[in-house]
Amino acid sequence: TDRYIGPAEVLRKKKDYIIPCVYHFYAEPMQLVKGEMQYLYDTTGKQYLDCFAGVSVVNCGHCNPEITKVICDQVTTLQHTCTIYLTENIVNLAERLAAITPGRLQKTFFCSSGTEANEGAALLASIYTGRQEFISLRQGLHGRTKLTMSLTGLSMWRTDTSPVGGISFAPNAYCYRCPYGKRHPECDLACANEIETIIKTSTSGQVAALFAEPIQGNGGIITPPPGYFKRVKEILDKFNILLIVDEVQTGFGRTGKMFAIEHYDVEPDIMTVAKALGNGTPVGAFTTRPEIADKYTRPGASTLGGNPVTSAAAMATIDFITKNDLPSRAAELGDYLRQGLTELQLKNPLLGDIRGHGLMLGVEMVNADKSPAAVQLDLLLEQMKNRGFLIGKNGPERNVMAFQPPLVITRKDLDSLLNNLADVLAALT
Ligand code: PMP
Repeated sequence: TDRYIGPAEVLRKKKDYIIPCVYHFYAEPMQLVKGEMQYLYDTTGKQYLDCFAGVSVVNCGHCNPEITKVICDQVTTLQHTCTIYLTENIVNLAERLAAITPGRLQKTFFCSSGTEANEGAALLASIYTGRQEFISLRQGLHGRTKLTMSLTGLSMWRTDTSPVGGISFAPNAYCYRCPYGKRHPECDLACANEIETIIKTSTSGQVAALFAEPIQGNGGIITPPPGYFKRVKEILDKFNILLIVDEVQTGFGRTGKMFAIEHYDVEPDIMTVAKALGNGTPVGAFTTRPEIADKYTRPGASTLGGNPVTSAAAMATIDFITKNDLPSRAAELGDYLRQGLTELQLKNPLLGDIRGHGLMLGVEMVNADKSPAAVQLDLLLEQMKNRGFLIGKNGPERNVMAFQPPLVITRKDLDSLLNNLADVLAALT
């Protein structure tokens, strides 16, 4: 343990040297020093079951030996050159992405984060359509730069008080608290239909694209009903508006399909990815069909985007996901976890709504009058952390418990998670 400075000293240095916007979880945080697949370890050697995967990043597990070996081999051979010189990992990775992404998505630009991917996708949409306006969904999150933050529909993450103009927000498909007081399918997808009204009333008509996460992550695991994206796409097509699907949090097997938009059987015009593509190395990308890509001909470069090391890591990640069929594993284990959570819900009215797909599940915690139970959730998460389980939290009211573990998690791990959750919930209620 004396190899490490310890959590108190980390907190002190963080206070002195890190800009305070960098936010952390827990009243009494631990210092993490080691990761092994679905487990993390702190300075005292205590083991934690990681049920959040660093927000959907390490889908293949922490320090996955197969991926780590590829990274080590590449980092000791050729680490960096910049895209002004020819190397092969970048093109091989792009070819692999084209093979696993839906429909005609084929040509990719690589960068280093989800924010950059969305920023680049917006620029591409404007170049292709010649239009400048955008539509985004309430409760969406797309990044922390001026434009991507302006596209974000969660005030917690909208620090900028002078957002970029020309962005209109549409209601998200939040069925548990439907803004129309309706139920699916009788609602006839009123929230999707509203997009047409917004185009006609709140924009100049010159909209380049609509941004949407297939399942909203930070927004609270908001999971649109079947048919939602088909309707959205029909409306957008009528006005020649592109659909940009942000798969930064949902991609690479997480939801039981390689990409979450596949649950809706819709082909996006542009898809953005990051997080799980690098399994912990900094990778971001946007990918599109040739007709759109080929309009973007003026020089563009990202110094670190597509570098040999992160591209090798990403290829090894895709290999691991496909070889082990992690999408099916996520679907199966997700059903198992959902069933366990549903049983807990029968005994605990605090568990208001369970939603998501695969191993991207959210539980909205509520009081008897359906008001958000954020304080109880914080207590629960702290106690679960003390018992060795790291669970996420999101939603505009910070009352959604989020399960997004490495997809290599086992049934035995989930049993132990559910047993501990049952104990902690019993003590809370
Ligand atoms: N899009 C989504 C859906 C995200 O969840 C995030 C990060 N939470 C981002 C974009 C931004 O990604 P990054 O932090 O890699 O810039």
